[in-house]
Amino acid sequence: MVLELGLDLERVQANVRKADVEDLLDRATVYRSGMEDDALELIDAELLARGVNAAAVAAHRERRSATLYGADGLAVKCGRCIRPAVARRWGWHCLWGVLPVFPGPQVFCDEHQN
Ligand SMILES: [Zn+2]
Repeated sequence: MVLELGLDLERVQANVRKADVEDLLDRATVYRSGMEDDALELIDAELLARGVNAAAVAAHRERRSATLYGADGLAVKCGRCIRPAVARRWGWHCLWGVLPVFPGPQVFCDEHQN
């Protein structure tokens, strides 16, 4: 069990090293409540190592204040990317991301809402 957790954390660490700062900031703020404590420690440490301080994290949280949250209290992800969703509207659900199949409520981040 301990070994499993260790390997798991190694995978998280490798993933965190490859992630861009915006992605890490989203995980440290809007996605924070859905993350494991161990993973959060790695993310916070990585942000610090890249020179992102607490003030910058707070500023990012402020920028993401329009984020939509689900009934479970977790931030809703954009239907097209990993960023947090800020808008919900009627649209076409696409098969494999390309073929429009049926209309329904969809969520979009600030980049994809237009
Ligand atoms: Zn998006």
